[in-house]
Amino acid sequence: MYDFDLFVIGGGSGGVRCARIAASHGARVAIAEERFWGGTCVNVGCVPKKLMVQAAEYGAWARDAHAFGWCGDLPAHEWPVLIAAKDREIARLNAVYVQLLNGSGVTSFNGRAVFEDPHTLMVDGRRMTAERIVIATGGLPSWPECEGAERLGIVSDAAFYLPSLPKRVVMVGGGYIAVEFAGIFRGLGAEVDMVFRQDLPLRGFDQDMRVALADALREQGVCLHPSMKLERLEQVGDMKRLHLVGGRHVDADLVFFATGRTPNTAGLGADRAQVALTPEGGVVVDDQHTTSQKHIFAIGDVSNKLNLTPVAIAQGHELADRLFGGDNKRSWSFTPIPTAVFSVPPLATCGLTEAEAALLGPADIYLAQFTPLRHMMSGRKRKTTIKLVVDQASQRILGAHMLGDDAAEMMQAIGVAMVTGATKRDFDRTIGIHPTSAEEWVTLRTRTRVAGVKV
Ligand code: FAD
Ligand code: NDP
Repeated sequence: MYDFDLFVIGGGSGGVRCARIAASHGARVAIAEERFWGGTCVNVGCVPKKLMVQAAEYGAWARDAHAFGWCGDLPAHEWPVLIAAKDREIARLNAVYVQLLNGSGVTSFNGRAVFEDPHTLMVDGRRMTAERIVIATGGLPSWPECEGAERLGIVSDAAFYLPSLPKRVVMVGGGYIAVEFAGIFRGLGAEVDMVFRQDLPLRGFDQDMRVALADALREQGVCLHPSMKLERLEQVGDMKRLHLVGGRHVDADLVFFATGRTPNTAGLGADRAQVALTPEGGVVVDDQHTTSQKHIFAIGDVSNKLNLTPVAIAQGHELADRLFGGDNKRSWSFTPIPTAVFSVPPLATCGLTEAEAALLGPADIYLAQFTPLRHMMSGRKRKTTIKLVVDQASQRILGAHMLGDDAAEMMQAIGVAMVTGATKRDFDRTIGIHPTSAEEWVTLRTRTRVAGVKV
C-alpha cells in the first residue's frame, strides 16, 4: 500500500543509523538528505572541530617539547594546509556514509523532503508515501538578537571554511562551541576575547569545573568578559566592533556567535502532517520518540533534548529496533550520559553536579587538583581538576567531573562504571595504573566536604 515501510528525513547521525538498522531488520527503507551525508557531526560539527582542536594542541606540544630536549625553531602553522587536510578527511567520511547506506539496502535520495500530508513526502518533485516516517533533520546555529550580527558576524558552519586564521576573534557565548573554538583560535595563535552573559562559562556544568575552566582559559591568554549583554555589532575601518550593554566594546576581525542551535523544522510542512512543535520549533515527542502522530517519530537534535551525536545515534538505533526488530533489541542507558567539551584542556563529565546531588540528599564530595607529570616538566601551569560526587547513604557514584588532559578518554570508561552502579568502594578497591593522571580516580581518599543536608 505504501512505497516504503519507513522514510527517514535527514541523513545525519541519527537518521543514517535508524535507516540502516531498520533495513537490517528487513524493512523497506528510504532516506533523504538535502545538504551533506553524515549531517552536522561529520561536516560542520564534532569531527572537523576535533581535528582543529588537535591542530591547536600540536602548537602547545611543540613549545613544550623544548623542556624535553627537543631543540630548534618552532614550526609555523599554515591555516590553509589544515583546512585542506580536514576537507579531505570529511570527504572520505561522506563517502563512507554513502557506502554504508548503499550496502545496507536503503534507498537514498539527495534532496529535501517535505510533508504533503501525514503519509506523503515530496522529495525534489517526486511524491512518495511511507507507512512510518522519522524526522531526523537536526538543528541549525541560531543568531542572537543583536543589530548587525548576521551581516557582520559568523556562526559555527562558516568557522570551518574561513580562508585564513583571523588575528583577533571575539567568541560570543559561553557554551560548548564558544569554549571549544576559543581554545582552537587561541592555540593557533589568535588573540581571543570571550563575551558571555553568565558569571562563568558552561552554565549547567559543575561549579568547580566551571571555575577551573575559566582559570584555564585565562591561563592560556583568553580574555574573559563575563556577565555581559550584547548591544550591536558595527564595522569600524577594518575591524568589527561589538558594543556591550553598559558602554564597553570589544574589537576584532572575526565575531563568532556561538549562541545555541535551533531545531531544523522551518519549511518541513510539519503542520500538513499534524506534527506538533514547541514554540522554539522542536518536534514534541514522548519517551518513545513518538510525535503527536503515532506513525511519525523524531530523533536527535530536532527533538532538542540532549543534543549530542551518540544520543542521536542511540535514539535512531533504539527506534529502528522497536519498530522492526522483534525480539532482536539492543538496550541503552540514557542516564547518566557521559559528555565532553573539547576545550583546552578538555572538560568531561558524567552524571550529577554537586548542586544537583545536594537537592537529593547528603553527598560526599571528593575534589583534587594537581599538576600532571608532563606539565611539571613542561613548565606550563596546566592543572588537572577531578571530582567525585557520591551519594552518602549508598556510596554510589552520582557524578564524575574532570578538567584536564585526556578527560574525555577517561570519562568514557568511568561512564561504564557508573552505568553499572559503581560505588566509591568499587573505585577504592580498584588498583591504579601508575604513573597516570587516571590513577587519581582510584586514590581519592579524603572527603573534601559534604553537600546537601547533613554530614
Ligand atoms: P544532524 O547531524 O544535524 O543531521 C540532520 C540532517 O538532516 C542534516 O544533514 C540536514 O542537512 C538534513 N536535513 C534537514 N532537513 C532536511 C530535509 N527537509 N530533507 C532532507 N534532509 C534534511 N556532539 C557530540 O556528541 N560531540 C561533539 O564533539 C560535538 N561537537 C559539535 C560541534 C559543533 C560545532 C556542532 C554544531 C555540534 C556538535 N555536536 C557534538 C552535536 C552533534 O553534531 C549533533 O548532536 C548531531 O549531529 C545530531 O545529529 P542529528 O542526526 O540529530 O542531526
Ligand atoms: P550551548 O547551548 O552550549 O551554549 C549557548 C551559549 O550561548 C550559552 O552560553 C548561552 O548563554 C549563550 N546565548 C544564547 N542566547 C544568547 C543571546 N541571545 N545573547 C547572548 N548569549 C546567548 O550552545 P552551543 O551553540 O555552544 O552548542 C549547541 C549544542 O551543540 C550544545 O548545547 C551541545 O548540545 C552541542 N555541542 C556539543 C559539543 C560536544 O559534545 N563537545 C560541542 C559543540 C556543540 P546562557 O548560558 O546564559 O543561556
